[in-house]
Amino acid sequence: MDFDINRKSAVLFDMDGVLYDSMPHHVEAWSRTFADFGMHMEPTQVYMNEGCTGSYTISKVSLEQRGHDATPQEIEEIYAHKAEIFKTMPEVKIMKGALELMANVRDSGCKILIVTGSGQKNLISRVLRDFDGFIVRERMVTAFDVKRGKPFPDPYLKGLELAGVDASQAVVVENAPLGIRAGVAAGIDTIAVNTGPLPDDVLLSEKPCALFHSICELADYWKRNFRKSL
Ligand code: MG
Repeated sequence: MDFDINRKSAVLFDMDGVLYDSMPHHVEAWSRTFADFGMHMEPTQVYMNEGCTGSYTISKVSLEQRGHDATPQEIEEIYAHKAEIFKTMPEVKIMKGALELMANVRDSGCKILIVTGSGQKNLISRVLRDFDGFIVRERMVTAFDVKRGKPFPDPYLKGLELAGVDASQAVVVENAPLGIRAGVAAGIDTIAVNTGPLPDDVLLSEKPCALFHSICELADYWKRNFRKSL
């Protein structure tokens, strides 16, 4: 481990693929959406792009496959379509170990924040319900709160501001390559948790300070290593 959790006072959690096992839903929703608009998106691409705002992803795919950017109106239409499909899918499950991790982090005295690129209003309101006692709306950064999403550092810088701490006092928990890039770009020690199908090397190439293979594994690590929780 290339960092010391005992020097930390705030934890900035990504949401999809960290707190919720929602990535398989996103894979299906994006794949169906792009097909309906005459484009396509492979599962690996969804995982590689994870963390970006919907409009960033739509622009990128449009440029790659049609040779031109999507208009603002198209972006809105395509993203609304994706959100509609997402809504019809079975409810996403809380990631195994996420509540335990939250409890361990809270017991260690750290502030808890959520920093997500998501603009799925239903999932955002669900977080407040599911993680009641750990999360408040004032400590959430979503797609609605920043102009530039991940992989830019902006969402995590906003998270630091909301937490009222310096980068050195915070730690980010991320599952996506571009999310790790955003955390590192904000100057924050970033823990990678590989909860998806990408090889570890893809995540490690973004220079996280540590890598775990499940949220349960990180929850155990936190409990064992944070002195205030012992
Ligand atoms: Mg994620």
